Amino acid sequence: MSPYSESSLKAELNERGYRLTPQRQTILHIFQTLPKGEHLSAEDLHTILKKQNERISLSTVYRTLHLMAYMGILRELELAEGHKHYELNRPYPEHHHHLVCVYCNRTLEFKNELVSNIGAKEAEAEGYYLLDCQLTLYVTGPNCDPANPCDASIPLDAIWFQED
Ligand SMILES: [Zn+2]
Ligand SMILES: [Zn+2]
Repeated sequence: MSPYSESSLKAELNERGYRLTPQRQTILHIFQTLPKGEHLSAEDLHTILKKQNERISLSTVYRTLHLMAYMGILRELELAEGHKHYELNRPYPEHHHHLVCVYCNRTLEFKNELVSNIGAKEAEAEGYYLLDCQLTLYVTGPNCDPANPCDASIPLDAIWFQED
């Protein structure tokens, strides 16, 4: 399923008995227009919605994010401790993985075919189909320590993100 065409997504969801309500469409649009490499928590999304004058309570945001992940539209990530983040779900083999700096929670994305292929093979060996494969590496940033977290003004995305 391509997450990028709204009409094909709508059709696919209808087929599976789900509806892309205006509220979910608004949320989907926010994720579609996020800069590459950005992930949103429920609180982040709630703040953005408030700025757009959308009246959606935080508890509804939590439920909607969870449901949209269940529907396969979003990908739920356990990055920092006790904090779920979300991004658009891109189907295998478009899966990417994350590096998380334990000092500042800065998150960097990388792609690695090998990791995704191992996931697919393991799933297939058991007769399952791979839906998602996430490798999260917990790291300490090159110029980061607890007293002096990574400089957030440096667009690390530009330095670190690797396409295959
Ligand atoms: Zn850091
Ligand atoms: Zn990501």
